[in-house]
Amino acid sequence: MKTFYIETFGCQMNAHDSEKVVGTLLTQGYTQVETPAEAELVLYNTCSIRDKAEQKVFHRLDQFKHEAGKGSNGKRKTYGVLGCVAQQEGEKIFERAPHVSLVAGSASYGRLPELLVQLEKGDRRVTGLSFDRDDAFETEFTRRTNPHRAYVTIIEGCDKSCAYCVVPFTRGPERSRASESVMNELEQLTGAGYTEVQLLGQNVNSYRDPSPAGWDFATMLERAGQVPGMRRVRFTTSHPRDFGKEIINAIDRTETLCNHVHLPVQSGSSDVLRRMDRQYTRDEYMRRIEWMKKARRDIAITTDIIVGFPGETERDFDDTLKLIDGVEYDAMFIFKYSKRPNTAALAYEDHIPEEEKTRRLMELQERQRGIQLRRNAGYVGLTEHVLVEGYNQATGQWIGRTSQHKTLNFIDAALPAPSQERTLVGEYLDVLVTRASPNSLAGERSAHV
Ligand code: SF4
Repeated sequence: MKTFYIETFGCQMNAHDSEKVVGTLLTQGYTQVETPAEAELVLYNTCSIRDKAEQKVFHRLDQFKHEAGKGSNGKRKTYGVLGCVAQQEGEKIFERAPHVSLVAGSASYGRLPELLVQLEKGDRRVTGLSFDRDDAFETEFTRRTNPHRAYVTIIEGCDKSCAYCVVPFTRGPERSRASESVMNELEQLTGAGYTEVQLLGQNVNSYRDPSPAGWDFATMLERAGQVPGMRRVRFTTSHPRDFGKEIINAIDRTETLCNHVHLPVQSGSSDVLRRMDRQYTRDEYMRRIEWMKKARRDIAITTDIIVGFPGETERDFDDTLKLIDGVEYDAMFIFKYSKRPNTAALAYEDHIPEEEKTRRLMELQERQRGIQLRRNAGYVGLTEHVLVEGYNQATGQWIGRTSQHKTLNFIDAALPAPSQERTLVGEYLDVLVTRASPNSLAGERSAHV
């Protein structure tokens, strides 16, 4: 029996890619195991968006370098690097980690069966790095890990060129998937019992249907929300430049579309945005925020921010602080700028010292904590509809997720804990919110709800 272990780093796109890889390996007669020690084939699906993430992969590979060629079961052990670091570093990985035998980027996963055959034949260096043949959307073998929520890729790659970002190099140019193919997959998913989908793309809202139907992203959203059996549709990640009002109108019209938008701003300073080549100004971004604030539905807004981009002055940073005060985001992911290979910002001057980046990050975090607490406190006393995603043994609470993507931990008087006969996981329930903290809500369901 052939065994494999896979570890995934990075974003939802990578998590979903790993589901495709697992499905493909299972159909090739492999069995998945829980530890690298048990596996003959060890795969790392990697992320290179930040320097730290990339270092982690090489550290992981280093840990096992003495075990290459000998599994604990006496069989040959093979190592593979997939994903963004594979695409970015290519064959250089063989030099840095000579025990690696497979290097393949995300556009080559459709070729995995033939790459595996080469490995099994004993080839020492196998690569899949071209963007010529793109099977990234082929999902017939996908093995999803969550039984209720499914990721569905609708667009791959990126045609923008943000000065700090490696994605255009690691995932290639933008390719949208035909609407019919997406709809077929959505129908199969609801038929199999899935009730929530998350439409994925690096710039998901740049979606343009390549088929004669010619759907734009807002149409795709509405149609996805109308699939029989679909209860929730999410999408990530949106780019502000391509974010039109028709997306808000679609959310307003279609209850199954979740009222949550993740719209990365990156900086509150138009000057920094221009040097980042983000293709929008602060005012243009704020216009999109206004559309959302005026929407019929209470749309939760979340964002990403980079602190310490080269040349970011105190005044630029202050503009970011003012922007977050004005928007009042529901959640925020803050990153310190780190140099990435091939990117335009490498040539920029005025790099910000690490300690200063850390100071800005902490100040922003502190400010955002207060905002989130205020935002969440507004839900206390309201009844929220949640999809139950799990149960926390340690706290004795069920874990629910609201349409706005907030975690709502709750006690259920009728079913305090899952039993052999019954669980609430996968159900949609109304929960009374009783408490709020910056990162989550807490609530209860009385026996009669
Ligand atoms: S839009 Fe910019 S940040 Fe997003 S993937 Fe493309 S280059 Fe990277």
